[in-house]
Amino acid sequence: GVVLGCRSLGMVYAEGKLRTPVFDRLDLSVREGETVAILGASGAGKSTLLHLLGGLDTPTEGEVFVAGHRMSALSDAARGALRNRALGFVYQFHHLLPEFTALENVMLPVMLNGREVAEATERARILLESVGLGHRLGHKPGELSGGERQRAAVARALVNRPACVLGDEPTGNLDEKTAATVFDLMLGLNREQRTSLVLVTHDRRLARRLDRVLELHDGKLRELQPDEV
Ligand code: ADP
Ligand code: ADP
Repeated sequence: GVVLGCRSLGMVYAEGKLRTPVFDRLDLSVREGETVAILGASGAGKSTLLHLLGGLDTPTEGEVFVAGHRMSALSDAARGALRNRALGFVYQFHHLLPEFTALENVMLPVMLNGREVAEATERARILLESVGLGHRLGHKPGELSGGERQRAAVARALVNRPACVLGDEPTGNLDEKTAATVFDLMLGLNREQRTSLVLVTHDRRLARRLDRVLELHDGKLRELQPDEV
């Protein structure tokens, strides 16, 4: 089935008299296990789309669906709980909490999901091991390398076995070799868990490795054929 999508999505940023419409009745459906890349020029609205799909912002028109729920029909608390349970986020910057260890950072979404400490610890440890950080459990973000921090962020995004991960240039801050390693890890884990992925990127080589490539242009999403990517 469809795990994430939007229908007739519209977003208008209003600042005083200036109105910036970003989308033109946008439709998108992401199926279970499907990986989707979103390309587009700077300012095309990629980050805005990801924020709306992730429930971090409210569209001015249309609807966002996450795991069968209409986001606008939920209370703030219910939307927050659904985001934590059904979605994972990986940004260009890791957003790990600096005072917590890698293990604690990855445990947090599990705890917020109402699980016991023992289960959260075990799942966080397994995920961190599978991203190659089994020897860094007690390290705080400041004690990790850039690549290690992004791998911890990937573990955190996947620890609740979400329906879909939303990635905004998750490897954009890393050198080419580290970026390739982190990307391979993320894609491998996503496929293994059958977690869907929506990835905003400007890197066509990364985009090409996903199931579908869409381009955001003039407020519309267009599916690119393999020879166009
Ligand atoms: P992209 O991620 O593709 O670079 P964005 O989603 O950041 O694009 O931005 C899309 C458009 O919306 C741009 O014209 C940008 O200036 C505008 N925009 C984004 N965020 C805001 C905001 N908070 N207030 C006003 N305009 C915004
Ligand atoms: P941008 O890419 O637009 O410059 P950031 O990547 O810093 O901004 O963050 C994107 C948005 O996601 C911000 O509104 C931020 O508050 C929010 N955010 C950051 N981390 C999380 C998180 N773990 N869960 C939910 N929202 C987050």
